[in-house]
Amino acid sequence: MTKEEEIPDWVGAQEFYEKYDPKEILGRGVSSVVRRCIHKKTLEEFAVKIIDITPSDKMSPEEIEEIREATVKEIDILKKVCGEDNIIQLKDCYESKAFFFLVFDLMRKGELFDYLTEKVTLSERETRNIMRALLEVVQVLHSKNIVHRDLKPENILLDDEMNIKLTDFGFSVQIKPGQTLKEVCGTPGYLAPEIIECSMDAGHSGYGTAVDIWSSGVIMYTLLAGSPPFWHRKQMLMLRMILAGNYDFSSPEWEDRSDTVKDLISRMLVVDPKLRYTVTDALNHSFFSQYVVNEVRQFTPYRRFKVICMTVLATMRIYCNYRRAKPVTKEVIKSDPYAVKPIRKLIDACAFKIYGHWVKKGQTQNRAALFENTPKTILLSIIAENNDSVQQIW
Ligand code: ADP
Ligand code: MG
Repeated sequence: MTKEEEIPDWVGAQEFYEKYDPKEILGRGVSSVVRRCIHKKTLEEFAVKIIDITPSDKMSPEEIEEIREATVKEIDILKKVCGEDNIIQLKDCYESKAFFFLVFDLMRKGELFDYLTEKVTLSERETRNIMRALLEVVQVLHSKNIVHRDLKPENILLDDEMNIKLTDFGFSVQIKPGQTLKEVCGTPGYLAPEIIECSMDAGHSGYGTAVDIWSSGVIMYTLLAGSPPFWHRKQMLMLRMILAGNYDFSSPEWEDRSDTVKDLISRMLVVDPKLRYTVTDALNHSFFSQYVVNEVRQFTPYRRFKVICMTVLATMRIYCNYRRAKPVTKEVIKSDPYAVKPIRKLIDACAFKIYGHWVKKGQTQNRAALFENTPKTILLSIIAENNDSVQQIW
């Protein structure tokens, strides 16, 4: 009898339950559920991703085997990126015939997705901090030839200090230098054009690490605009928009954004992966060298003079802009409230508070639905996607 045969099927599960106490659900995936759990001895809190591989009517044995293999790969990648700063750390792992238990550090602040829903849009400064950390992680992954393939705000978690932690390596794969991939996987709104092309053309040469830069561009756009660059209620039309690289900076939120930030996004959202920025190009972009404050400031007399000149110029510019600014009258607020920034922010924030839970996640739902301008269409589409029976009321 071999060693594997001596171990009963449930032993991994038993070990997990002996050591940890599972608590409430923190998140769900297609075949996984993530719960808070407590280490019984130390009372430390963790998050456990429980992956169900029980044979059932819902899944064929082939599908179960696929999930099992994918989980083994996920664990392997998580071990390869162990110790990296902005990546979730796998603390413990158990396997039984019916379940996998992956124990991670608990990210109390949840997903970047929820943080963004709460804030509606982020400032350039906050976007810079998040994107720098994300791209640094992507740089580490790409240096090891690992492609994440599912970068999105739902898979970026926040720790107590609001540092990002990249998670969900379920689609990640380590390739050999020069190797390309053809498998179609990821999340629709974040798919790079070359992945979609692979699904349409069996003779396609495949894709590589550049797909993560595309998704990072989509994330960056979404953080600043509050809505994603490519979105249509009909998925087919959304995919067509992606293939054509059809997006713009026309929403009012972009009025206040710098040309530098738009330039970086437009170099990440390039349809041809060969012409798209690499992660190092992105990190070297001037957007990331702005506002880097040195710990010790050495002011030479020349520097002091320069600062004084700049302060005077800035003051003059602010004064001139102030004089040129149109007064916000009752008429302006009545005729075009969305044009007034504080009011626009208030409207967006209220809309997210009211409708946010409907557009939370999923394949066909999207926060962009809130930005379509016919309220009845929005309601109809959201309700139709959530509850078919409600349609009859309309
Ligand atoms: P899936 O592969 O099924 O998408 P994820 O690993 O992305 O699974 O986890 C699903 C969700 O569970 C995440 O989007 C997040 O909301 C929550 N979650 C995952 N890991 C943690 C963690 N370490 N701390 C807090 N919440 C987590
Ligand atoms: Mg996920």
